[in-house]
Amino acid sequence: MISVREALDVVVREVSPLGAERVGIVAAGGRALAEEVRSGRDVPGTANSAMDGYAVRHADLTDLPARLRVVGIAAAGAVGGRVNAGEALKIMTGAPIPAGADTVVRVEDTRADGDLVEIGVAPAAGANVRGAGEDVRSGDAILSRGRRVGPAEVGLLASIGRAFVLVVQRPRVAILSTGNELVEADDTVSPGQVVNSNAYTLAAAVAEAGALPVILPIARDSLAETRAAFREAARHDAILSTGGVSVGDFDYVKAAMDEVGVRRLFWKVAQKPGKPLTFGMLEGRPYFGLPGNPVSSLVCFELYARPALRKMAGFEAIHLPTAAVTLGEDVKKAPGLTEFIRCRIERRDGRLVATSTGSQSSGVLRSMSQGHALVIGAAEVSRLRAGSGARAILLDPQAGATEPPF
Ligand code: AMP
Ligand code: MG
Repeated sequence: MISVREALDVVVREVSPLGAERVGIVAAGGRALAEEVRSGRDVPGTANSAMDGYAVRHADLTDLPARLRVVGIAAAGAVGGRVNAGEALKIMTGAPIPAGADTVVRVEDTRADGDLVEIGVAPAAGANVRGAGEDVRSGDAILSRGRRVGPAEVGLLASIGRAFVLVVQRPRVAILSTGNELVEADDTVSPGQVVNSNAYTLAAAVAEAGALPVILPIARDSLAETRAAFREAARHDAILSTGGVSVGDFDYVKAAMDEVGVRRLFWKVAQKPGKPLTFGMLEGRPYFGLPGNPVSSLVCFELYARPALRKMAGFEAIHLPTAAVTLGEDVKKAPGLTEFIRCRIERRDGRLVATSTGSQSSGVLRSMSQGHALVIGAAEVSRLRAGSGARAILLDPQAGATEPPF
């Protein structure tokens, strides 16, 4: 049985980013860049005014108050104009600085007097002038490969004249549920049957991770059917199966993976929940044999499949964020296994306090829905004490952000 860190390292090491595709920059939002972006131009292209005011020569402001002759007016978008000694040009925010001028005096610090302007206070030389290339210089590498494209990046791309950009393809992820007992969400449930909630949970999780879920038909518990389902699943970029990885008499997932040629890298991780997790590779595709219990399959997805899919989708930042938390209560845990305790997190007196969401049974999916953090209980300890510090994985960094930040 390998440790959680070994398992994560194996998974991340084995997968690689997919190929690139060219998309419009708005569609690139939320995706990872497949190219380093360099600018072919200065932004702004010309020096311009940061204020409404008067463009002047700073040398004319040595004797105050200065009285300068207003020789024109420049609106945003205008070009041209010239300011000679003793002159000023009325200028609007964003308008190019006219030749000869080097400083803008805010309109609030001036008094118009016919075709003159009187300036009582001199700003520093160069004040209120946004230099050409102040934001981006021609030739600058402004965005690196692997960067997530957010709103600011979309705007930067637009400002350097890029309407299209190369992003990494989104992995198409097969979701394969195994189990004789499973029925779909809108089926009637006979005694002994269970709704295939995992397929829906995982499809949502895959989409949230930036990949494309494809739900396959349920595979019944026979070697032939499970193997056929894995053959079908192989047409996707990544494969997530659920169930059938334990040591039950009808658990065929490992055998089916072996038969289709999956190179098994591990089976069983020293963790709770999700100990029977199986992982292998075939022709560059990761195969995750997730456990069947709803909490186990989702926790294993978040811990291992999510970073793998993020790496395949080209992201440099592939891991979930964590936070330092204080435990709000004693928590018993399984010694020898790293435990991921489902917790809710509240802010109390400036600290983040984690409290368990109750039953930690791997069948209780509400334990995941009532809290959106996993407190990490180290393998070697058997109890986490109230008041002690721990690290928590934030599955939803916005959960609990009900208070305004300022
Ligand atoms: P297994 O790993 O196949 O032995 O399944 C473990 C437990 O998870 C059993 O109680 C199953 O009924 C349940 N389970 C397996 N697959 C699913 C699924 N797709 N959706 C919901 N529960 C499942
Ligand atoms: Mg099963």
